[in-house]
Amino acid sequence: MKTEIEPDKRKWDHNGEKPIRIACSKCGSFDVRRDAYVEWDIEKQKWVLATVFDDGACMDCEDSASLIEIQIEDAEIQESSDEHEPG
Ligand SMILES: [Zn+2]
Repeated sequence: MKTEIEPDKRKWDHNGEKPIRIACSKCGSFDVRRDAYVEWDIEKQKWVLATVFDDGACMDCEDSASLIEIQIEDAEIQESSDEHEPG
């Protein structure tokens, strides 16, 4: 058995085959946030993500909310990356 995935890391790193979006379970908005800590990385000289908490918040509900994962279909990705600027 070689399934040693850090339990903490799985909370915010999505390693599935298909990309996902995070949405509010109440209103379905994608404008959501999540509580997290960052810590100062001396080598990188920037803040790096240290811990992500379960608590989520929705900007539309303006309240704490539970967040759900929605799989993005392949077609949707191609559509957004295949945009042509008119003119
Ligand atoms: Zn919401």
